[in-house]
Amino acid sequence: MNFMSSLDPHQHTIKKPVSMRGIGLHSGRAVNLTIKPAEVDTGIRFVRSDVAAPAIPASMRLVVDTRLATTIARDETAVATTEHLLAALSGMNIDNALIELDGPEVPIMDGSAGPFVHLLRKADRRRQKGVRRVLRITDEIAVRDGGKEIRVLPGDGLKITCEIDFDHELIRRQRFSIELSPRKFAAEIAMARTFGFMEDVEKLQENGFALGGSLENAVVMDQGGVLNPEGLRFRDEFVRHKILDIVGDLALLGCPVLGHVIASRSGHRQHLLLMQEIARRPECWELVELESRGATRRGQEAASPASLLMPILAPSSLAGDSCPA
Ligand SMILES: [Zn+2]
Repeated sequence: MNFMSSLDPHQHTIKKPVSMRGIGLHSGRAVNLTIKPAEVDTGIRFVRSDVAAPAIPASMRLVVDTRLATTIARDETAVATTEHLLAALSGMNIDNALIELDGPEVPIMDGSAGPFVHLLRKADRRRQKGVRRVLRITDEIAVRDGGKEIRVLPGDGLKITCEIDFDHELIRRQRFSIELSPRKFAAEIAMARTFGFMEDVEKLQENGFALGGSLENAVVMDQGGVLNPEGLRFRDEFVRHKILDIVGDLALLGCPVLGHVIASRSGHRQHLLLMQEIARRPECWELVELESRGATRRGQEAASPASLLMPILAPSSLAGDSCPA
């Protein structure tokens, strides 16, 4: 399939502000979330309304923790568990938005991106004048980290293939591959919930993590099976959720990746390592602008990795051909 048929050439934001309330998975604290429209080339920015601090761009350069979830921070101000919300925005092709939060963690909701997709649909999309840019992979980039691997190959779409292998009879080896579009993301990926094992949840809670964790916001298993009375949403919900995490973490690149991401047993740490490797290897990709009539144009600054990395803390340099984040 030609990627132009699935990728909208225009940047999009939302039509009106929308809000929801939930609890943080790790903090267990209630938090209010509002998503607001934003101008062309803003990218996604988090604003902590409970502290006096500048906005935090959703950028790989600001990742400070990948152990249980992806946390970004600017100076002393952090936002944790960004991945499911960022997956919803990226999966639904929203390029520009402000995310207001009155606490340090994005609410976990039901452990999937479904509630965020629902909220974004309520807000409706607004097409903007700005042209979308995509990071087009021209040569393979790979990261190996212990027994885990993630790589990205050239390809004419936004494709993700993921494989997981857990020593649990409900999971074992699962593999899923998808060519992403907003419709497919919403139908096949967004509803897949985060998951964990009872013995790990107990250990985490003893150490002050996953304090908000419950059967309301995660699939929890013990040796006997799934503890959630409602069961699984998909037979292979686990690997679908891993794809959700990949979409959400790679959103921190600031623009869609045109290529085929292949992940094997990867987690947040390996997703960050891949983005760092992409930034280090500008000879393996180019920034292209999508044009309405089916052609692409090379971004003027595409040859420079700085075009990816510099604008992050310098909003005034956002105009031009650099990646929005
Ligand atoms: Zn997740």
